Amino acid sequence: MYRKTYARIHLGNLKQNIRSAAENLPRTCGIVAVVKANAYGHGAVECAKAAKHAGACMLAVALAEEAVPLYEEKIGIPIIVIGRSNHEQLRLAVELGLQPCVFTAGDILFLQKICAAQGKKIKIHLKFDTGMCRIGIRSDEELNSCVRMLDTCPDVELEGVFTHFANSDAKNKEHAIRQHESFLHFIEILRENGFQPAIHADNSAGTIDLPQFSHDMVRLGISMYGYYPSDEVDKDAVPLKPVMEVFAEISHVKTIGPGESVGYGSTFTAQRTTKVATVQIGYGDGYNRLLSNRGKMIVTTGCGSFYAPIIGRVCMDQTMLDITDVDGEVQTGDLVTVLGKRGDKLISADAIAQICGTISYEVLLDFNERVPRIYV
Ligand code: PLP
Repeated sequence: MYRKTYARIHLGNLKQNIRSAAENLPRTCGIVAVVKANAYGHGAVECAKAAKHAGACMLAVALAEEAVPLYEEKIGIPIIVIGRSNHEQLRLAVELGLQPCVFTAGDILFLQKICAAQGKKIKIHLKFDTGMCRIGIRSDEELNSCVRMLDTCPDVELEGVFTHFANSDAKNKEHAIRQHESFLHFIEILRENGFQPAIHADNSAGTIDLPQFSHDMVRLGISMYGYYPSDEVDKDAVPLKPVMEVFAEISHVKTIGPGESVGYGSTFTAQRTTKVATVQIGYGDGYNRLLSNRGKMIVTTGCGSFYAPIIGRVCMDQTMLDITDVDGEVQTGDLVTVLGKRGDKLISADAIAQICGTISYEVLLDFNERVPRIYV
């Protein structure tokens, strides 16, 4: 590692978050660790290993190809693909033994043909669109055509059924309850046809607020990484600890005079003699430019930890901080906390998300491969 900017990933916290979620669920309920999008930016292979260690029974990715590194690392628990797979991805699913999400008779038939040609079998999960309007079976007719097709496809086994809640993180659960009722209706049709698949619906919000809908498994994403899906869920039900911290190195410290301005567009002008620290992180690392003149970082010295506001625009590789009010010595080479807690000071992904008009999910994911992940 040359530049000292990096993310520290606390796998112990990830394991603890899984155990905390499990405590809110019936003992028989399994946990599917959602490690899509490189485990929400935390590193898929390392998080998958830790999740398995903490008791996760399955992994979930959005794209079949996201399963390749997990397969190569032989994590050793099944992998479900929760997004729709095209034909190339279905071929990969058969090859790697993944469990794809399917919702059309055509895709079931396609899988059967590949399996027959290769002498393989595949387990699938039928996806139901009960109110998200994204992907999935929407009507009895669509389900019946899948059921008829399954009856003629000996190598395609119905392992599971699932749906996804659109509003389970809202205080008002009416929409989620309606979605669940519709899901139960589809499950009833499957049972009448002799199928007994594993059932899963809850995401993080459902796991926290709707454990009564947990069925056989829940799909845990953001809460595994230590963040609540929204401020409206019952945070006391499942205690969580953030998994990612981000640090960046100070590359220069100087003092500027009143009237001098900082950064592109000169959007900050010093009103007083101002001590400025330049930090080696920018939007080229996934640190959002909307934090310009609005965000802050934590500077830690021998005298304690202090918030230092961002002054001027966030550049591609660098960001400037006003450290005038920081007590103690600040030097080139010191590390500042971009995301995380130092002493009584905290910068959470939620706080950054609020400034940027987004959600913690995106803030965590935004830190890109330029920011090495160090696992502890
Ligand atoms: N299940 C599906 C189908 C998803 O798309 C996602 C995330 O987008 C999850 C589960 C996990 O959701 P969360 O991160 O809110 O727990």
